[in-house]
Amino acid sequence: VRTDISTGDIARLVVEDRLWHRLSRLAEFGATADGGVNRQALSAEEIAARRQLVAWGTAIGLQPHTDRVANLFLTYRGRDADLSPVLIGSHIDSQPTGGKFDGAYGVLAALESVEAMIAGGHKPRRSITVVAWMNEEGSRFAPGMMGSAVYTGARARADILDICDHAGRSVREELDTVLRADADVPVVEKRQRPAAYLELHIEQGPILELESKVIGAVTGIQGKRTYRVHVTGEENHAGTSPRSVRRDALVAAIDIVKALQNALWDRDDITRFTVGQFTVTPNAPSVVPAKVVFSIDLRHPDADQLRPLGDAVPEICANAAGRCAVAVTQVLYDPPLEFPPAIRQKIGRTADRLDIPWMNIPSGAGHDARHLHRICPTGMIFIPCKDGISHNEAESILRSHATAGASVLAEVAFELANAV
Ligand SMILES: [Zn+2]
Repeated sequence: VRTDISTGDIARLVVEDRLWHRLSRLAEFGATADGGVNRQALSAEEIAARRQLVAWGTAIGLQPHTDRVANLFLTYRGRDADLSPVLIGSHIDSQPTGGKFDGAYGVLAALESVEAMIAGGHKPRRSITVVAWMNEEGSRFAPGMMGSAVYTGARARADILDICDHAGRSVREELDTVLRADADVPVVEKRQRPAAYLELHIEQGPILELESKVIGAVTGIQGKRTYRVHVTGEENHAGTSPRSVRRDALVAAIDIVKALQNALWDRDDITRFTVGQFTVTPNAPSVVPAKVVFSIDLRHPDADQLRPLGDAVPEICANAAGRCAVAVTQVLYDPPLEFPPAIRQKIGRTADRLDIPWMNIPSGAGHDARHLHRICPTGMIFIPCKDGISHNEAESILRSHATAGASVLAEVAFELANAV
């Protein structure tokens, strides 16, 4: 056992071919005809992928366990196994037309990190546990980040069990199926607050590629406010009712969306404003629309900006509604979060020492790290993905970037696991 190591000792034991082979192999579970992956949470495809992960982990001496919401853990025991572990990982569920790397890369790079430590005989003080969180994507069972939410106490297990997919299957039934398939994997309920959590992920945006950087030290996750807007007008005959008497909910809704888009426009292109869902009632060609319901997804990395922008939404809607009535309901308010500078600095310093170009970068997307941040020091590392494309079967990364990310993760995880 060696403990007197310097930066690079573990990174150089990261094996690119092994990591890449496992990425290709895992992508076979739920592979789609167009080169993507359909491996939704708690599906048969995900169960098979879990079996493969457990097989890879146990083959190198890791101890598997799961919990009652099917989060999967593979532990490399540290010198002092009584201490709380450092968790590293992500998720292996995907969107229905997802790519090979979203989530899966973070889990397999975590496995590779630990294998590099084992190969060098480097045993950390604390245990390091590779984790695959249950249902990050939320495509089959909404909302996402379910496993990490229950693990960290943000949601109660009882609150998720009766959530059903489109086919009417419940989380309760499917958890039973998964845990039965993993009969050889012990279910451990008693859990320690982790010493730290690190998540490596593809950026899912174009910034690193545009800046020619290979590593992103993630500064935080931007805040998000979502709304449901009800616009109510009056149903009328398309041929007989003159403009002067109409209360057309669709025309009002379009005016509202345009007013919101103007009000939320920013020169620096930081604010994210999306109307992704829009329903018109009665949705008949010859009837003046009586009702429109639409969604607003508003995001910003700065809490002091997101608050007033979001607070202004109801008034902007009311002012643009004309003769229609409008009601705005806020559905969700997740303020921005900032990861601890100490972990971000370790990521940057490690990239520097390994001679890998890096930059600070905020996360536009949500991740399980949002929940872990509530209970332990948490950090995230990004690598580029081709053209910033993700949640898409065309998702693509470079082998060398995959290796660079795993190298930084391995070094930082080992450092954290040796810290007091
Ligand atoms: Zn993901």
